[in-house]
Amino acid sequence: MNYKIALIKGDGIGPEVVGEAVKVMDAIGEKFGHTFEYTDILMGGRAIDEVGKSYPDGTAEKCKACDAVLLGAVGGPKWGHSTDPDKRPETALLSIRKDLGLYANLRPAALRPALAESCPLKNDKGIDLMIVRELTGGVYFGKKDRYTTEDRGEEASDLMAYSEKEIERIGRRGFELARLRGKKLVSVDKANVLETSRLWRQIMHKLGSEYPDVQYEDVLVDNAAMQLVKDPGQFDVVVTENMFGDILSDEASMITGSIGLLPSASIGDTAPGLYEPIHGSAPDIAGQDKANPIATILSVAMMFRYSFDLPTEAKAIEDAVDAVLNEGWRTADIAKPGEEVIGTLKMGELIRAKL
Ligand code: NAD
Repeated sequence: MNYKIALIKGDGIGPEVVGEAVKVMDAIGEKFGHTFEYTDILMGGRAIDEVGKSYPDGTAEKCKACDAVLLGAVGGPKWGHSTDPDKRPETALLSIRKDLGLYANLRPAALRPALAESCPLKNDKGIDLMIVRELTGGVYFGKKDRYTTEDRGEEASDLMAYSEKEIERIGRRGFELARLRGKKLVSVDKANVLETSRLWRQIMHKLGSEYPDVQYEDVLVDNAAMQLVKDPGQFDVVVTENMFGDILSDEASMITGSIGLLPSASIGDTAPGLYEPIHGSAPDIAGQDKANPIATILSVAMMFRYSFDLPTEAKAIEDAVDAVLNEGWRTADIAKPGEEVIGTLKMGELIRAKL
């Protein structure tokens, strides 16, 4: 098969880690008989410098002409101060999610066996969970207001709203993913306080009757945050709304020990899906051959699994990463004191050699 991939290399370490991921894709293409055609797309800080806005006109259309999008990371201190939304890199991230209809954010947090010691918590079950975060609704997208009243002074509000349809489509994603994995789904809400959560729970229970093979549980968000630290091995798939998912997915990431290892996928009902490492542009190490490319390489594995339905190719990448880690190769972010450290290019090369 021939696949068209949009590459948004972005800023900081983005081009370095995407570069290694592309070479891995090409190695997979050779091994399994696929071809990949790449289109470079300008977005983020570099786009501000070159065309005056972080999300140039036509970006969404160029992405829609492709089968999937691979993003490095955008942003950096150089572009952190403008109040003009066109000149802020995050504007591009929110716009592309909305324009491509990417309502489901899948964030796996798996502890790679070779790095079990990096987990800061006591755990004997291993960690292999997937957070499914709603990405285009809730309080981040609700009406915002700022006003002054005579008796209370300045006041601000952010509206949190969810529709039945929005909850149902993300809930269904949660159940479907649980079916493909360990058949356990936890839905996180705050139904003791929030009306949006009470509707969320009502819809989730209705969906639950369609998935009797999936073991389902409601957990309040405060308890979920606690359980993630207490016993992360108990979770398989966790589905939740935008803000709770934002916070819990970062918490889950950190308990696996390294930000440089974790991939993510953002998908909607139609192609293209968008795949990216969870880390940012790491300006402190950009251009120094220090970045760990594994998160981006594992994002390609997610692309193969979720956009192209190529689970064998996805597994080949994941196995190659584990094989290199099992041999003891480490980039600086995952090395213990005194361990030999390799760079971005060498890590990419070793992973390709295993393919
Ligand atoms: P960051 O993830 O870029 O860096 C946090 C720390 O982790 C740094 O010390 C960095 O060196 C390290 N790190 C990150 N990725 C690594 C990798 N692959 N290998 C080795 N070490 C790695 O987060 P930050 O410093 O808060 O943000 C930097 C910039 O990135 C900001 O402008 C922020 O807005 C942007 N950002 C972009 C995205 C995105 O594009 N989706 C996401 C998060 C942050």
